Amino acid sequence: MNILVINAGSSSLKYQLYSMLDESVLSKGRVERIGMETAILTHETAGKPEIREVNEILDHTTAIRKVLEMLLHKEHGSIRAVSEINAVGHRVVHGGEVFSSSVIVTDEVKREIKKLFDLAPLHNPAHMMGIDAIEINLAAILQVVVFDTAFHQSMPAKSYLYPIPMSLYHKHKVRRYGFHGTSHEYVSRRAAAFIEKPLDELKLITCHIGNGASCAAIVNGQTLDTSMGLTPLEGLMMGTRSGDLDPAIVPYTMGKEDLTLNEVNSMLNKHSGLIAISGISSDMREVEKAMGEGDKNAKLAFEMYEYRLRKYIGAYVAAMNGLDVLIFTAGVGENSVLLRQTVCRQLTFFGVELDEELNQVRSSQERRISTSQSKVQVLVIPTNEELMIARETYRLVK
Ligand code: ADP
Repeated sequence: MNILVINAGSSSLKYQLYSMLDESVLSKGRVERIGMETAILTHETAGKPEIREVNEILDHTTAIRKVLEMLLHKEHGSIRAVSEINAVGHRVVHGGEVFSSSVIVTDEVKREIKKLFDLAPLHNPAHMMGIDAIEINLAAILQVVVFDTAFHQSMPAKSYLYPIPMSLYHKHKVRRYGFHGTSHEYVSRRAAAFIEKPLDELKLITCHIGNGASCAAIVNGQTLDTSMGLTPLEGLMMGTRSGDLDPAIVPYTMGKEDLTLNEVNSMLNKHSGLIAISGISSDMREVEKAMGEGDKNAKLAFEMYEYRLRKYIGAYVAAMNGLDVLIFTAGVGENSVLLRQTVCRQLTFFGVELDEELNQVRSSQERRISTSQSKVQVLVIPTNEELMIARETYRLVK
């Protein structure tokens, strides 16, 4: 069975075609600048060179049509007929309280996703365009939606409620949802398999540190708590997002700087975090490079980023009353030797003992970076949200 995984954004669309026989990626690519005359389609089929095309692609329906043409391409494609695509799996950011697991797309499911547009105005409408575009191009094909929030629906009320008037929860569903759930679930399962222990006997902290970053406390394979909240703004300091701050900063700065709600929202989401403090970049590689060259602001940005992550790890150890495995994943978590080193060197109180040499190894493999005596095992597990979506789709349609 072949499964096409789609991650549709408002002006971009990423795709991977999986063969579920061996979970291999047959083809993958992305369409960027949808809505423009100069949209870019980048496509690669296993064992063949990557190709890049510039086309007018004004909407998602056309983008999907172009993707299908590529998949069927005589030279660059990997299938001979669209009937070789058996199902499509979509990433959907917000599943609200309605969806605690992946589901097959029906009219009712589409109505529910639309009701959640308010909670994820930048994401859910774009995902819906992806779902509709598949329907238009591939008519009756089975589609599955996999939600970033679903895995975290196991949180107890004490974790997901905010201490504000309950009417806001009842009327508007203001609560913690958490995001990156597909990744937290994937790496927690892989970690249990890696150390050969049942997941339901472990206390884990998963740190998904990419452009966006969140961590989760996972007990018995379920989220006890996670750092992102109603939206992906809460929690850790990120590339361009502030993470936690005193909520009073919002009205205070609005008054002092004469900002509108939209402006303050944009400041906290797009102009804060690493970029704001370093003044250099939201990309950790650039920040580390500048820090190495003696830039003081870059050093401060790194210190704040690391300190805030470490405080969350400490809080989650207390929340779970213990820790068996600490996991690093995503762009920064998988690649930044320095971040892992700085965090782990200051968690010795909890029984974390970093193997400095293993931490230096650069690899795309799952690996342990703690010593063999370390009370807490520290692992680097490359995340694979697309594979998780393909598996979920396969599970539901097979
Ligand atoms: P996204 O949240 O967009 O999926 P990724 O998980 O791909 O992000 O992470 C992207 C980030 O990973 C980049 O912004 C960069 O800061 C970081 N990164 C990638 N490689 C390295 C590296 N070698 N050292 C430090 N940071 C890195």
